[in-house]
Amino acid sequence: MPLLDFQCGKCGNKFDELVYTSQMDKVTCPECGSRDVKRVYEGKCYFGMLGGLSDSGGCSGRSCSGCSGCGH
Ligand SMILES: [Zn+2]
Repeated sequence: MPLLDFQCGKCGNKFDELVYTSQMDKVTCPECGSRDVKRVYEGKCYFGMLGGLSDSGGCSGRSCSGCSGCGH
């Protein structure tokens, strides 16, 4: 069971949750109980992980609008 990082869209709380990906829509914020939570990718660029394996520098220089981890 993977440890995933989430952020609450209501109060902004970040938290870790042990959850199967099939149960991600059942995750709720431990602070306010909101179901408006989204996954965040700490440290690594999601598209970087999918794409160039030799590019370990995140997504600098490329568009990464869907990446919450590196902010680019
Ligand atoms: Zn919350």
